Amino acid sequence: MERLEFGKLLLILPELNRFQLRALVKRVNGDLEKDDVNYVAEKRCDSLSACPHCDYKAFVRWGHSGEQQRFKCKQCHRTFNEFTATPFARLKHRGKRLARYAQCMMEGLSLRQSAERCDMNLATSFHWRHRFLRQPECHRASTLGGIVEADEAFFRESFKGKRNITHRQPRKHGRPGRDGANPLIPVLLLLDRYEREADFVLSTNSLDEITPCFSGRIKTDSVLCTDGSSLYPSIAEGEGLHHRPVPIGTPGRTKGGGAFHIQTLNNYISRLRSWLQRFRGVGTEYLSNYLGWWRIVTQRKLETSRAWLEEGMLT
Ligand SMILES: [Zn+2]
Repeated sequence: MERLEFGKLLLILPELNRFQLRALVKRVNGDLEKDDVNYVAEKRCDSLSACPHCDYKAFVRWGHSGEQQRFKCKQCHRTFNEFTATPFARLKHRGKRLARYAQCMMEGLSLRQSAERCDMNLATSFHWRHRFLRQPECHRASTLGGIVEADEAFFRESFKGKRNITHRQPRKHGRPGRDGANPLIPVLLLLDRYEREADFVLSTNSLDEITPCFSGRIKTDSVLCTDGSSLYPSIAEGEGLHHRPVPIGTPGRTKGGGAFHIQTLNNYISRLRSWLQRFRGVGTEYLSNYLGWWRIVTQRKLETSRAWLEEGMLT
């Protein structure tokens, strides 16, 4: 549109009543959301160098499906679009809802709130959320260094969303489980002072399970601070790390009392627990996904829905 005509359009705006203004805002927001989706689709399209089905390098444009460009592979003859083999493949009404759902992820909304805002049912909302959280591995720090804090946090086992629980008796609401009926799931967390973090959901906090989580992840000669658990000395030795155990009661364990402490990690875990409360319990099966979400929130600090889309699509 010409600048002059756009100026005329702006001059008309004060003449609109509030219903017309709201309709206009809704329309503009819808267009902006579509624009975000088109932007990541185009970016992905530019980076497409091989067929996502067979990895063959030669493919041709093969018409459109809706607004989506389709391609056809010259070897396997299968068709695909920009979203094929990404977490957002085969989601219905992507253009209308994907950017809005990304906004819900950014705001950390509950399933129900996201469903309402995106005009979908609860099951679809659940499905979409886990599409966004499909790649938690991508953001798990592969290298940590300097002063690295390690500790385990425990989360109550949960079968939220499961219809058939056969291996234990159901619990009454508000009552703690009997011994063995309500186990805690250990999660190992590693955090360095550059805010790089890696976490691992374990079945037991044993040496056998914890040792592989370290395997070359921390630069040699780094200092490993732990709570003094007997599990860590041998791991530190095996990985070539200086071990500084700081059990409860050690002078300098708390913040401000020296560089070697595990307060940064304790604080990280405490903020994680507060953040998780909004979901009123997280199914153990999906715990790793939620830890990945928290990692994105705290480390990547993505501030636009477009950034969330790029994160899900292009990493
Ligand atoms: Zn192919």
